[in-house]
Amino acid sequence: MNISSTDANTGHSGIYYRTIGNEIVVFEHCHTNHLPLLLKGPTGSGKSRFVEHMAERLELPLYTVSCHEETSAVDLIGRFVIRGNETVWQDGPVTRAVREGALLYIDEVAEARPDTIVSLHSLTDHRRSLFIERTGEQLHAPATFMLIAAYNPGYQGIARELKSSTKQRFVSMSFDYPEQSIETEIVARESRLAEKQAAQLVKLARKIRNLNEPGLAETVSTRLLVNAAKLIHQGLPPRSACRCAIVEPLSDDDEIKTALLDIVTLSF
Ligand code: ADP
Repeated sequence: MNISSTDANTGHSGIYYRTIGNEIVVFEHCHTNHLPLLLKGPTGSGKSRFVEHMAERLELPLYTVSCHEETSAVDLIGRFVIRGNETVWQDGPVTRAVREGALLYIDEVAEARPDTIVSLHSLTDHRRSLFIERTGEQLHAPATFMLIAAYNPGYQGIARELKSSTKQRFVSMSFDYPEQSIETEIVARESRLAEKQAAQLVKLARKIRNLNEPGLAETVSTRLLVNAAKLIHQGLPPRSACRCAIVEPLSDDDEIKTALLDIVTLSF
């Protein structure tokens, strides 16, 4: 199976999402107008959380697919499987989402093979349809169906390109790490750590983000800050928490890790 995560979420657990700008309004307009939406932004910047929040807000099931280089159209649309003596058709997540009029979230879309992305094209334009070649079935998406895709345009020139012709099929929004006070609020709320300590972590993140260290493939995300904050809240000393939750996940290179740890030491 090439899909690393597929789930349907119909729960109403009150998913916390801190609004940053007008993203909720844009999303709602896209949903009403049957327009697909592309979320661009670095890893851990709240894209998935936002989509989960919107699914809850619109009271729609959510199907999530995380793509990687092996993800194929079959993984998305479905396949014949052998059950006992029979060969039966099994819907993939895209087909299920279309049938149910759900939200379909395709994460890391730039990682998928081009033919996989092409298999979604008919869902992104006026046709809003899905042709299942293997069964000959033609599905038309119900009004509530919406396709949302996300990708990380890359950090420090390590670009993961999405073809321009694909990008132009979507209404697009950029996500980034939020400004200091908002990020502090998110980190404190997610970890239950005191605001003052959360603010220290956010300050540390600013310093690391300003480093311009060429050896870093990604910089510190809100997700890593939340993880560090949770460890501190549980009683781990801040420096150990930052080492395990921030420094180690960011690099395997000893020199870079030492440089990052120096910044941690200066901050705590
Ligand atoms: P992405 O999908 O962009 O990789 P996520 O949505 O998984 O990132 O966000 C990572 C974590 O950061 C979330 O689990 C949440 O704890 C936190 N987070 C980031 N932005 C927000 C936000 N605006 N509101 C609430 N939590 C957020």
